[in-house]
Amino acid sequence: MDNDPNLAAWQDDQYDEHRVKEVTKADNGYEIRCEAFSLFLASDDSSGVVPKAGQTVRIWGKGFFAFRGLAFDGQIAFYRSQEEDEARRRQEVIEQKVQRMNEYEAERDSFNARVEALPDPLRLRVEGFREFGGDEWRWDYEPYEMASCEEAARIYRVCHGDEQQIQNFALLTPEQQRKRNPKMDTGHSGNTWGMAIRLAWLMARDDSLVPKEHAVICPLIGCKEAGCWAMRGQGEDD
Ligand SMILES: [Zn+2]
Repeated sequence: MDNDPNLAAWQDDQYDEHRVKEVTKADNGYEIRCEAFSLFLASDDSSGVVPKAGQTVRIWGKGFFAFRGLAFDGQIAFYRSQEEDEARRRQEVIEQKVQRMNEYEAERDSFNARVEALPDPLRLRVEGFREFGGDEWRWDYEPYEMASCEEAARIYRVCHGDEQQIQNFALLTPEQQRKRNPKMDTGHSGNTWGMAIRLAWLMARDDSLVPKEHAVICPLIGCKEAGCWAMRGQGEDD
């Protein structure tokens, strides 16, 4: 068995085994239900193995959210060693980065024009991040930041730059908000929407604070990576 390409899999002891309760064929693979959880085996990964109810499934990896191999009654559907799996993840991160870069660069002129079109406090804010984080910041975070900045500009406008009106607007239902702000982006996350309101409100209250406010992406990645104003200040003091 020295030439068995699956030898590494059978010597890999980072696995759990469960009994398959039910298998449902889907267009692109198999939905596999066990006692306490379900997992999905993609057709691309199945190596021709057809899972069946009653089989024992061996799941390699740390937990089934990040599993890196499956075998059914001793037949391997797919398997990656820990090293192979990590290499694959690193590759995915690189590919995602390249994709973000290409998407941004295809619209670089448009992003520049959109930033130019922002009200001054918001424009200075984005320019501050760009100056500190350069192209990396543009590729990774600018589209996310712009979703809030452009919405903030719209909210500020429809509320006539009035602090109280912005506070009242924030309390309206989404339908009422859309009526008041017809160009409202409907794809916001809770975070990008909350920051749009906050930036509009800050603009009304004291527009010098707008460039100093945290980056929209900050709660997800932290101030340092986001290049928040406070981080830039500290950098210059050293
Ligand atoms: Zn921050």
